[in-house]
Amino acid sequence: MPKPPIGDKAADRAGSEPCFCGSGRKMRVCHPDASPDSRAVHITHLYQDVEREIADYRASSPKQPPCREGCSSCCSDYFPVSQVEFELLLVYMQRHWSKAEITEAFERAEENLLALEQENPPMYASLTQPVDRKGELEAVRHHAGRNSFPCPLLDREKGRCRVYPARPFLCRTHGSSHTFYGGWRERLQPERICEYIDGGRSHRKITPNVADYWPKYEELADVRVGPQRRLLRQYPIFYWLVLYGRHGGGKTAELGSLDNFNLPLDVHNAKMAAHGTPTSNSN
Ligand code: SF4
Ligand code: SF4
Ligand SMILES: [Zn+2]
Repeated sequence: MPKPPIGDKAADRAGSEPCFCGSGRKMRVCHPDASPDSRAVHITHLYQDVEREIADYRASSPKQPPCREGCSSCCSDYFPVSQVEFELLLVYMQRHWSKAEITEAFERAEENLLALEQENPPMYASLTQPVDRKGELEAVRHHAGRNSFPCPLLDREKGRCRVYPARPFLCRTHGSSHTFYGGWRERLQPERICEYIDGGRSHRKITPNVADYWPKYEELADVRVGPQRRLLRQYPIFYWLVLYGRHGGGKTAELGSLDNFNLPLDVHNAKMAAHGTPTSNSN
């Protein structure tokens, strides 16, 4: 019987910690209605845990991967993120960005989609048409690569992530970790991680293996209803912005009625199963 990725200990941790929204205040003061057993809190804990693991490893390893502030080529890679991760980005933008910056990111995302249509028609087709997870994986496996444009949340002049404290899981681990096996993302990873990192043995020697975090990640990215796991589609950040800009609250980071990822996990799962766009089932 599959278990949810959380335990009481993890849930207890949440109230006295800095809130997932990035306010710096304790969650029980800032977002008192948020459940400690929510998707937002669990993904935040996952971020903290993997960051700690990477930091510990870096502190003890004599050699380091070349990732540093200002190095941002990998922010032009095509990679999907989960819905909850994207919504946390919106929460962060809402709190820390000006309205003009938010509007500009949504507009940039529309431009990014047009560019993808021109430069990568098969990837564009898979992104914009209903496909199941298998089809999505196939498309990513064969057609994903480096886009001609960076993530719309990047400060292009400084090469800095403008949502750094809220950045998704892959942004935290890419270049700074490796896995020997695990989720589909790892299996899709090309040998070369970026133009500065050869993804072979030398990289494995100087980075931690984060394979243990993948099952938790996948669990939070998908929807669990009883014993059934429903696989939800994941999209690149720019396409999430396009979708939310067109079909959500407009070119604004306000989540409004969509803001339910702070409900208890089982309640949220049931809501997502009822209203989401599950693509296939798996146990
Ligand atoms: S993965 Fe490569 S491109 Fe990305 S920050 Fe690290 S060194 Fe730079
Ligand atoms: S969220 Fe930040 S780190 Fe991730 S791709 Fe965008 S700019 Fe780069
Ligand atoms: Zn908060």
